[in-house]
Amino acid sequence: MAQQHDLIIIGAGPGGYVAAIRAAQLGLNVACVEEAPALGGTCLRVGCIPSKALLESSELYAQARHELAAHGIVVENVRLDLPAMMRRKDQVVTMLTKGVAALLRKNNVTHYAGHGRLAGAHRVVVTGSQGETELQAEHILIATGSRSADLPGVVVDGDRIGTSTEALAFSSVPEHLVVIGAGYIGLEMAAVWSRLGAKVTVLEYLDRILPGMDSELAAEAQKLFAKSGIEFRLSSRVTAARVEGEGCVVECAGAEPIRCSRVLLAVGRVPNTEGLGLESVGIQTDAKGCIPVNEHFATSAPGVYAIGDVIGGAMLAHKAEEEGIACVEHLVTGYGHVNYDAIPAVVYTMPEIASVGKTEDQLKEAGTPYRKGVFPFRGNGRARALGHVDGFVKMLAHAETDRILGVHIIGPRAGDLIAEAAAAIEFGASSEDVARTSHAHPTLAEAMKEAALAVDQRAIHV
Ligand code: FAD
Ligand code: AMP
Repeated sequence: MAQQHDLIIIGAGPGGYVAAIRAAQLGLNVACVEEAPALGGTCLRVGCIPSKALLESSELYAQARHELAAHGIVVENVRLDLPAMMRRKDQVVTMLTKGVAALLRKNNVTHYAGHGRLAGAHRVVVTGSQGETELQAEHILIATGSRSADLPGVVVDGDRIGTSTEALAFSSVPEHLVVIGAGYIGLEMAAVWSRLGAKVTVLEYLDRILPGMDSELAAEAQKLFAKSGIEFRLSSRVTAARVEGEGCVVECAGAEPIRCSRVLLAVGRVPNTEGLGLESVGIQTDAKGCIPVNEHFATSAPGVYAIGDVIGGAMLAHKAEEEGIACVEHLVTGYGHVNYDAIPAVVYTMPEIASVGKTEDQLKEAGTPYRKGVFPFRGNGRARALGHVDGFVKMLAHAETDRILGVHIIGPRAGDLIAEAAAAIEFGASSEDVARTSHAHPTLAEAMKEAALAVDQRAIHV
């Protein structure tokens, strides 16, 4: 006899577990299937959370070594205890994954441990340590996420040549780490290990870092990262990487091979659809391996929906969450929508980099008339007090309507500051609205107000 539910969700990442809680709040009897030993998905186990824990710890280490003296704080014999740093990171992860389990229990979501596979219309088979369990529901939501993409010629051995999962758990600081790919994951890991003492070389196929982000922001970021000691080799196409003797060799088209101690492969992520039984309901993936969906996250199979990394787009935890909520709200209430123009993206390096809405490159390409206001953090009192004055806020507003179209920040706490810009875009605000909003002094947020004033050439502190 199959276990009966209203909704079966496959995958308990930020897309799946948030959708499960929302669906339960809306009165559905929900099952959530997860094959990993802990809940929370890539994000909690091997993504957002452990990377942020290590970024935080490594930044404190770097500050203790290089910055505290400027504040008149003398710290001698600063020493790295890497096992303790890793234990702390693991504790943060465990606390949060257990928290997700508690949330599912509190909301009466039934958790099935094992691999979920579609088995024809309205049916899912879970294969776990206890054998197979059959589930049946009117609706099935696929939220199986993504995994690190391979690169032909690069043999990942899960040790010296690894993905972000290995780079989040190195047992010693590599002497020389080569990072393949200058996307946000590669750069965050480059920052961690560079601060902890590794020589870091980033190899990127394109002639710029952070593809997709505003190019002015990316150029400034590259300059600041290079100043911090990270080496960049742009327009470098990696063709092979292998373990040789005690180290590794990385080959790039048209250049000398690089010898190093470890390699991190970070050339993007691909959707998890293998062994999912998509063929049993006639779903075909697109050229990138993603599950195609309509605006309500419905797949081509009746009653089957998909959200998060597995449908492509920006592979971000909060984008997966928004989609999960919109999907189940639409199922139950008939309403549910995601405004993709108001989904921020953050790179948690130092300085942080954050964007929301259209980039300047996109506006130029679309021929949209815009005005631009830029305010540098060196004109902001709080940034001076913090001792972090690199970077700027850039606001882009429509030249005729003044509606804010995009905001791009590089600088201290950019990841927190971008929330105001996302809210402004969600509310359809103009740059004048932000310029006329009182911002507490002295805060970094004043840089946002000044950028809004700068759209109309009337910034005060420049
Ligand atoms: P996932 O989190 O991947 O969850 C899918 C879950 O489904 C997994 O737990 C998997 O085990 C399970 N699963 C898959 N197939 C099956 C099956 N057949 N049966 C049962 N279970 C299955 N995003 C941010 O927004 N901010 C960040 O700072 C950030 N940092 C990151 C750092 C790193 C190093 C990495 C790798 C990613 C980072 N991301 C970040 C991206 C973020 O982790 C993903 O966008 C997010 O996890 C996607 O959520 P999801 O629910 O779609 O999928
Ligand atoms: P993202 O998709 O944002 O995670 O970024 C991955 C990065 O890896 C992109 O900037 C790609 O251009 C880069 N990349 C892909 N293939 C290669 C390659 N063979 N050598 C170097 N960089 C690559």
